[in-house]
Amino acid sequence: MKVLVTGGSGFVAAHCIDQLLKAGHHVVFTVRTTEKGQNIIRNHRETSTKKLSFVVVEDIAAKGAFDTAVQSEPPFEGVLHTASPFHFNVTDVKRDMLDPAINGTRGILWSIKKYAPGVSRVVLTSSFAAMARHGNHPAIYDESVWSSLTAHDAELQGPFVAYSASKTLAEQAAWDFMDQEQPNFTLTTLTPPAVFGPVVHYLDSLNAINTSNTLTRDLIQGKMKNSLPHSPIFLWIDVRDLATAHVKALAEPKAKGKRIFVVAGFYRNSEIADAINKNFPQLQDRLPANYAAEPLSFPYEIDNSLSKEILGIQYRSLDECVRDSVNAMLAFKA
Ligand code: NDP
Repeated sequence: MKVLVTGGSGFVAAHCIDQLLKAGHHVVFTVRTTEKGQNIIRNHRETSTKKLSFVVVEDIAAKGAFDTAVQSEPPFEGVLHTASPFHFNVTDVKRDMLDPAINGTRGILWSIKKYAPGVSRVVLTSSFAAMARHGNHPAIYDESVWSSLTAHDAELQGPFVAYSASKTLAEQAAWDFMDQEQPNFTLTTLTPPAVFGPVVHYLDSLNAINTSNTLTRDLIQGKMKNSLPHSPIFLWIDVRDLATAHVKALAEPKAKGKRIFVVAGFYRNSEIADAINKNFPQLQDRLPANYAAEPLSFPYEIDNSLSKEILGIQYRSLDECVRDSVNAMLAFKA
């Protein structure tokens, strides 16, 4: 299958690209600049440019941003839309967060409908943020649960809520598009919580690490020595399992039209610190000696059975994830 992957410079996309290539697919990824694209291609020297290439999409929020990118010869059959802002440096909530997430999602679906009739499967990287009902948790989180955040909440409640609202509204926009436009392709959305795991995407330094890996980086750099905060969410998935879910969702007939909650389980920040301590005793001096009080139990349950039944995901353990993440980070010079 020939697959377009958006946000090719991202943490999650890098693993999707690697797994797509391993599975024998042809991949074209989007990046904001030629330089970023060339760096990624250089990191895949062993891969022929017939199998891996890129196209520049400077700003996914722009009207018609993907019109050219979705056109290809031979044509694309699948699209993984991972690109979306995931950071908390927001000055203008609409411009920096909501527009790229929502318009980017709506925009790529329109571009596919108009210009890429060969595409039969689209997978959208949504988020647990599009499910989470902070302060009003259901007894069990499963695919039926939706966040109720609005653009108004995003404007008023700070960057974390703005990100959560951006993912909620983007996924809603995708399903609305499918209902209203009835395109020739099917949609699958994946709703992962915090994604941890080895960094394989091109980075100049660990200072530029993606948002969800900052905790582990800060722990091994001794930045949490005096205080380890507890996490605003308690759920996680290994990035390699998430990438597997993307690749399987492209081909598995039962994934068509489904929202799939991909989640390995619960974690506490102290368990990440403990796993580092156990696997890397040489880093012990950098780790916090005491932890802030953390929950003994969690305020809800989770149901990830659909991801196991439909996509056959076998989730990695937190210990394996932390070990591999730290090994990847230690390979960086800075
Ligand atoms: P990254 O920040 O590593 O990747 C985000 C990607 O989106 C980058 O390639 C980035 O490009 C691109 N992007 C963002 N805004 C724009 C824009 N306006 N125009 C063009 N490209 C843009 O994040 P992750 O890999 O962690 O996240 C990937 C997806 O997974 C996102 O949709 C995120 O919401 C979702 N997700 C991630 C979770 C996590 O814990 N990591 C949890 C749940 C969902 P550039 O590098 O040039 O900025």
